[in-house]
Amino acid sequence: VLEIRDLHKSYGALEVLKGVSLAAHRGDVVSLIGSSGSGKSTLLRCANLLEDSQQGEVLFEGEPVTWRGIGPNRQPADRRQVIRIRTNLSMVFQQFNLWAHMTILQNVMEAPVSVLGEDRAEVETRARALLDKVGIGDKADAWPAQLSGGQQQRAAIARALAMQPRALLFDEPTSALDPELEQEVVRVIKALAEEGRTMIIVTHDMRLAADVSDHVIFLHQGLIEEEGPPDELFGAPRSERLKQFLSATV
Ligand code: ATP
Ligand code: MG
Repeated sequence: VLEIRDLHKSYGALEVLKGVSLAAHRGDVVSLIGSSGSGKSTLLRCANLLEDSQQGEVLFEGEPVTWRGIGPNRQPADRRQVIRIRTNLSMVFQQFNLWAHMTILQNVMEAPVSVLGEDRAEVETRARALLDKVGIGDKADAWPAQLSGGQQQRAAIARALAMQPRALLFDEPTSALDPELEQEVVRVIKALAEEGRTMIIVTHDMRLAADVSDHVIFLHQGLIEEEGPPDELFGAPRSERLKQFLSATV
């Protein structure tokens, strides 16, 4: 679904990604772990073209992003391709980012109706089914501020799913939540993994990464320091930096 090859990204003089590659095939769950500032969020944002990158390739369904310009002047050349990729790689953020002036149902319906131009009645049926699926069907007409953090994050997941994306990108989906609310969200993510959804998950929750991932990537200062199946990465880490990171997080 998504492949990234040797991606480089700088903010001015600060090189944040120094040549990172990853692949998520259909049904794969890939987790990204690493210290604060290692470039995890930047990598997700470059993957769905919310950020430009200066070098390397991004391929969606095998099709490379076409660029115009080189290095610091590089930008995606094809606006329609950008929209297609962005709508097919739906993001879920740490801070839910629900629209406060819309009900939960309106939040879930907004992008399919206004970005994809889908039929409102069809979208509403799908949106209600998705809210049921994440366990908040009774909150359709509530405002975001009336929901707990865990409920808001589940609404944000329903909103991402409403786009019928090819993959979901999660950026620390449970970090803003109290432990008991965190579990509600973890359950939803696990159910999505069992359905065979393609997902890339940035997380500080090593238990979640170990439970749902097919592949785990440990980023350190903009480079992949170690990667592999979760039992190897967590059970028998090789790099000293990863060992240190894991002993500091559990
Ligand atoms: P965290 O675990 O804290 O979320 P992260 O691994 O997601 O960290 P990034 O947010 O990708 O890290 O940031 C990587 C580096 O890029 C950091 O040094 C950060 O300060 C820098 N950075 C991120 N966004 C910007 C920006 N818009 N402008 C300048 N520098 C930025
Ligand atoms: Mg981050």
